[in-house]
Amino acid sequence: MTQNTPAAASQASRTARDPELRAPSQAGRNSPLVQVQNLSKVYRTARGALTLFEGLDLQIELGEMVAIVGQSGAGKSTLLHILGALDAPSSGTVYCASTNVATLSSRQAAAFRNREIGYVWQFHYLLPEFTAQENVAMPLLARGMGRAEAMVLAANWLREVDLEDRATHRPGELSGGEQQRVALARALVNSPRLLLADEPTGDLDGTTAGRVFELIQRLHSNHGLTSVLVTHNLDLAARCSRTLRLENGRLTPVATPAQGAGN
Ligand code: ADP
Repeated sequence: MTQNTPAAASQASRTARDPELRAPSQAGRNSPLVQVQNLSKVYRTARGALTLFEGLDLQIELGEMVAIVGQSGAGKSTLLHILGALDAPSSGTVYCASTNVATLSSRQAAAFRNREIGYVWQFHYLLPEFTAQENVAMPLLARGMGRAEAMVLAANWLREVDLEDRATHRPGELSGGEQQRVALARALVNSPRLLLADEPTGDLDGTTAGRVFELIQRLHSNHGLTSVLVTHNLDLAARCSRTLRLENGRLTPVATPAQGAGN
C-alpha cells in the first residue's frame, strides 16, 4: 500500500526491516550504522601498488551527518564507494547498516545498495530521455514495483524536494540545482538508511550549493537518515554534526567552530 508521505513511507519501510528502529529505547538511539575496522585498500596498477588506506577505522552513529574533507586523490570517493558496496576493500571489516559489505557477492551488493544506500554524486546522472518523475521512479521500477504506484511515490518525492511543478520536465529542461534535487529524490525514493553524497554541491554556484545543502540537511533530519558527505567546502562541512579529514590513509577529526572541539 502506498504511504501518504515520503517521511511516513521511509519510516514504515525502515521500521519493517530494522529492529533497532522498532524499539529505539531498547536498542539505543546511538547504535553505529557504520563500523569500519582496520580497512586497507590497495590498487594494483601498472606502475605498482597504490596504498590508499591502511588500518583505517571509522564509526558513524545512527542519525549522524558526517563530512569528509581532504585533498584531491586522498581516497574520499573510494571510501564512499566501499561504504556503499560499489568497491571492495583489500582487507578489513566494513559493517554498514548491519551488513558486512566486504563479503557481498555482486548480486548481493546490488540488492544491498538498492535497499540501504542513497547515493548522490557531483553530477546528477539523470537519464536524459525520461522526465524528472520517471527518473525518480526508476529505483522503484527496478525493484519490481508497478508503474502507477512508483509514479505516485515519485510525485510525492518531487514535492519533498520542492519540484512538484517540474515533474514532466526532462533533465535538460532543469537548472543544475533542480537536477541535483531530482537526483536527491531518486536517491531516497527507496527509503535507504544511509545517504552517501560525493561532492553533491561541487558543480553548483555558491548560492545554489547552499540551498541544495539545506535541502540535504532537511531530508536528513525529516527522514531519520545517517549521512556521509564528501565535500571540499569547509563552510558546508562545518554545518554537519562532525567533520573528518582523510589524509595519508587515516581519518582525523577536524574541530570547526560550529562543531566545537569535542570531535
Ligand atoms: P578523492 O575522492 O579523495 O579525490 P579517489 O578516491 O577518487 O580520491 O582516488 C584516490 C586515488 O586512488 C587517486 O590517486 C586515484 O587515481 C586512485 N584510484 C582510484 N580508483 C582507482 C582504480 N580503480 N585503480 C587505480 N587507482 C585508482
